[in-house]
Amino acid sequence: MHQGNNQQSPRAGGGPDTGLPSWGGSSLSDSEPRDGSDLPIIEPFRIKSVEPIHQTTRPERIGFLEQCHGNLFLLPASAVLVDLLTDSGTGAMSSEQWAALMRGDESYAGAKSYQRFEAAVREVMGIPHVIPTHQGRAAESLLFGLLLQPGDVVPNNTHFDTTRANVECRGAIALDHPCEALADTMSDAPFKGDMDLEALQATLEDKSLRVPLVMMTLTNNAGGGQPASLENLRAVQSLCKKHSVPFYIDACRFAENAGLQRLRDPDLAGRSVAELVHETFALADGCTMSAKKDGLANIGGFLAVRDPDLAESARRAMVVTEGFPTYGGLAGRDLEAVARGLQEVIDEDYLDYRVASIRYVCERLDARGVPVVRPYGGHAVFLDAARFLPHLPRDHYPGQALAIELYAEGGIRSCEIGSVMLGQLDPDTGEEIPAAQELVRLAVPRRTYTQSHMDYVIEIISKVWERREHIRGVSIQNAPAVLRHFGAHFEPRPIP
Ligand SMILES: *Cc1c(COP(=O)(O)O)cnc(C)c1O
Repeated sequence: MHQGNNQQSPRAGGGPDTGLPSWGGSSLSDSEPRDGSDLPIIEPFRIKSVEPIHQTTRPERIGFLEQCHGNLFLLPASAVLVDLLTDSGTGAMSSEQWAALMRGDESYAGAKSYQRFEAAVREVMGIPHVIPTHQGRAAESLLFGLLLQPGDVVPNNTHFDTTRANVECRGAIALDHPCEALADTMSDAPFKGDMDLEALQATLEDKSLRVPLVMMTLTNNAGGGQPASLENLRAVQSLCKKHSVPFYIDACRFAENAGLQRLRDPDLAGRSVAELVHETFALADGCTMSAKKDGLANIGGFLAVRDPDLAESARRAMVVTEGFPTYGGLAGRDLEAVARGLQEVIDEDYLDYRVASIRYVCERLDARGVPVVRPYGGHAVFLDAARFLPHLPRDHYPGQALAIELYAEGGIRSCEIGSVMLGQLDPDTGEEIPAAQELVRLAVPRRTYTQSHMDYVIEIISKVWERREHIRGVSIQNAPAVLRHFGAHFEPRPIP
C-alpha cells in the first residue's frame, strides 16, 4: 500500500531513536497501511456542492419501466436514485477543475487552454502529438478513418462497444483476443485484462490477414474492468514491432490500470503510478482516450500519436466533423478541466480509495453468496448474471433481466454487458451468437457517491438475490441494428 507517512519532518525532535517522547504516542508505526483495513473507507475529499436525489415508490418505478420498455438507457435520470449506469462523464470535478474552467480561453484557434491540454497529455503520457476530440469515440473514428480499409483486421484484448462499432462501420473486422483467464469470472488471476499472446501471434502471422494496428483496452472494460500487466503490454509491443504493426492503447482507464498493476504485481512495489503510466505509454505508438473516464471530466477526449504525419492527417480530417484542431469539439474550459483531471487522476490516495470502495461492495456481496466477478476491479462492480439467474437461458437475457430488477427493487440503474450489448448475428444462419459472458455492471462514478450509498446498493442487490428464483427473463421486441442496447425495447417473458 501507499507509504507516504514515513518522511521525517525537518523539525521532528522526538521518536524512538532520541529517547524523547514523540507525537502520537507509541501506537503509530511507519509501516501502518493508510487504509488500515478495520477502519471505514475515507473518501479523500470533502463535499463542497451537493445535488439532491429522490427516492421513488415501487409502483412509480414499475410505471417508468413500462414507459422505457425495460431499457434503462431510456429512463429519465430523475427517476433514478443511485445511478450506476456508467462511470463515463458522471464524476464530480474538483475545486481546482472548477477554478480552471474560469481560465478557459475560448479563442477559436491557438487558445492557451489547448497549450495546457497538450502539455498535460505530454507530461502524463509522454506522447507528443495531441488532438482533442469531443469524446473517446471521435478519437477512434479519426484514427480508424486514417488506418483502416474494408476487410482489415484489428486485434484487441476486448473491443469496447463503440470501438467495435467504429471498426465495423469501416468494413473491418474487430477481433478479440482476451487471455484465457478472463472467461472464468470466479478466478482471482490478477491480470485478466491481458492479451492472449498466442492468439495475437497467430493473427499477426496469418498472411491472409491485413492488420493495420493492434489495440489494447486499459482496463478491459467489456471484460469486467480487469487490468493488463506491464509484462503483457511489453510482449504485445514486441510482437507488434516484430511484424511492423503499430500498437495503440485504448486509454480510457489508464490510471486505474496502473493503480491495479501497482497493487497486484509484487515486482512493482514502491513504483509510483506516474512512472507506471509513463512506462505503459512508452510502449505505444499512440492512444485514443475518453476523458470522461480517467480524465475526471464530464466531456472530452483525445487522440495522441507519435507519428507527425499521421497527426497532420488527423488534423486535416477532423475539421470536417470535430472542429479546428486546437479545440476538437470542446470549449476552452473543457480543455482546462481535462488538463487538470489528468494530473489529479494519477494521485495514489485517490486511486487507493477508489479501489477500496469497490472492494468494500464486492466483499460484502461475496459474503452473502452473490456471484461477483473476480478479482474486484477499479471502476465497477460486475455481477455474473448467468450465475445469478441460472434458470434463465441466454436468449432470455439474464443480464438485462437482472438490471431491470435492481431498478424495480431500489431505483438503482446499472448496465447489462452481455448478449444484449455484445451478442452478434451469425452471418450465415442469421441466428444470434450469445456474448462470452452475461454481466451486469454497476459502474461507480468518480468522487460522487459515499459509502452510505454503497451500503444501500449492497442491501438492494441482496434483496434481489433472495428472490432470484422468481425473476423472469425478457425478450427483445425491437432493436436498432448498431449499438442496439442503447435503443432496444424489451418485453417481460411470460411465466413458463
Ligand atoms: C467509454 C469508452 C470508450 C468510448 O469513449 P466515449 O467517450 O464514450 O466516446 C472507448 N473505449 C472504452 C474502453 C471506454 O470505456
